[in-house]
Amino acid sequence: MKLEVERVSKRFRSSDNLPLAVLCDISFELGVNEFVCIVGPSGCGKTTLLRIIAGLEQQDSGVVKMDGAPVRGPDASRGMLFQDYALFPWRTVRQNIEFGLEIKRVPPAVRRSISRHFISVVGLEGFEDRYPHQLSGGMKQRVAIARALANDPEVILMDEPFASLDAQTRVAMQRHLLRVFNESKKSVLFVTHNVEEALYLGDRVLVFTKRPGRIRAVLSLPAERPRDLLDPEFVKLRAQILEMLNQELKWKDQEPA
Ligand code: ADP
Ligand code: MG
Repeated sequence: MKLEVERVSKRFRSSDNLPLAVLCDISFELGVNEFVCIVGPSGCGKTTLLRIIAGLEQQDSGVVKMDGAPVRGPDASRGMLFQDYALFPWRTVRQNIEFGLEIKRVPPAVRRSISRHFISVVGLEGFEDRYPHQLSGGMKQRVAIARALANDPEVILMDEPFASLDAQTRVAMQRHLLRVFNESKKSVLFVTHNVEEALYLGDRVLVFTKRPGRIRAVLSLPAERPRDLLDPEFVKLRAQILEMLNQELKWKDQEPA
């Protein structure tokens, strides 16, 4: 297994300083070149889980292992991609993509050839010298993907990366991501609140409960790609997941304050 998450739990303090259980006993594995999607109600701890896996946040109990070794902090083996792109506005497309390589002191000529490669992978040739504010949302997200890939992580952690894109761009980005995934043999952990997106992309889908997030169900999806979401099998899976999410929302309303 590339990544193992074993019995991870996390509490925060709420604004009135009460303990707030956010994640409860989360266990799952991510294989080499496996694409796992997480869906769950807002606030159930998805972002927190990705931050723990990235090494940006410390769990209270449990362990995260990469290739069998416990994660102790952020490192280049796990790249995180955020919903808001997190590009540097003062750097061009090329400079954004080369940022991690600069930090690693990769020589300029090597940097240039790596960034050229990933600019072509995400289809941004001709935009190398543009600044983020000169790009559309979809293009910015492609820069963020290229930047993550340029660092050559083994695991890519994606936190609702396409949530702010319009429907058409989103579909184009999903296709793009699958192409990169197929070619690069990375492992991907992808958070989304869009059930169709999870069904289109994932090898497996983890459905989380409301906070504190637990894994409510794990669904394995048919292997063939591209997916036809109108296929009866996917229609059924979609209904199953939506039903589970609906139940989570209902129970939330019944909870004492
Ligand atoms: P999701 O991504 O599933 O919407 P999050 O992981 O962002 O959920 O947050 C889960 C819960 O933890 C939320 O109630 C959020 O307010 C709370 N939370 C997240 N980060 C912190 C923090 N640093 N301190 C206190 N509470 C936090
Ligand atoms: Mg989140």
